[in-house]
Amino acid sequence: LVVLKSVNKHFGALHVLQDVDLTIARGEVVVVIGPSGSGKSTLCRTVNRLETIDAGTITIDGRPLPQEGKELARLRADVGMVFQSFNLFAHKTVLENVMLGQIKVRKADRKQAEVKARALLDRVGVGTQADKYPAQLSGGQQQRVAIARALAMDPKVMLFDEPTSALDPEMINEVLEVMQQLARDGMTMIVVTHEMGFARSAANRVVFMADGRIVEQATPDQFFSNPSSDRAKDFLSKIL
Ligand code: ATP
Ligand code: MG
Repeated sequence: LVVLKSVNKHFGALHVLQDVDLTIARGEVVVVIGPSGSGKSTLCRTVNRLETIDAGTITIDGRPLPQEGKELARLRADVGMVFQSFNLFAHKTVLENVMLGQIKVRKADRKQAEVKARALLDRVGVGTQADKYPAQLSGGQQQRVAIARALAMDPKVMLFDEPTSALDPEMINEVLEVMQQLARDGMTMIVVTHEMGFARSAANRVVFMADGRIVEQATPDQFFSNPSSDRAKDFLSKIL
């Protein structure tokens, strides 16, 4: 579904993505881990074209990423993204946050959009918060709204960039559980996270990055019990 071939990206002199090849099948859950600065966020951001690439190709569903205009807006809807900071519209209610993209990008009518938004808010466990503003919600609730908002676009793939790292510990699990459920429902997901429990239980594959390269890819079982590269061994010894 998502195919990156020889993707290269520089920030000035910094070669932040080096010959990245990555293929993600429909329904697959890929967890990306690696040291800070290894290029995990940049990798995610190239997939919905928040970052351009210098060389290589990225296709989604067989189509190259569009460069601009309406096609780009559609791509951003097809590729749902959830960030560390929740990025909700502060001056719109929770319900409106989940309705907006459906109306603007997917051209849904208001009634349809509302019905779907309420169903999704229920699904992520914040149905009773629909008429509040984001600031009135806990971090975990806001992040679940952000997930509902992305899902409202019927994305083909969901990208999560450290979705729980800004949360208080007691709120991490409620967000991970929503993500677990999504994974079980067959969503294609790319997840950057330090939550190794999630990686073990939800990932089909772990991708380990260091210095802008994919150093190693394996099933969670293989990766955690028997990493093959020294970089991965070193990384795991620090975090586990
Ligand atoms: P972390 O675990 O800390 O989130 P990461 O693996 O997500 O790290 P990236 O955010 O992708 O790493 O950054 C990779 C490298 O690119 C870092 O050295 C970072 O400083 C640099 N970088 C990221 N964004 C930019 C930018 N817009 N301009 C210049 N350099 C950047
Ligand atoms: Mg990052």
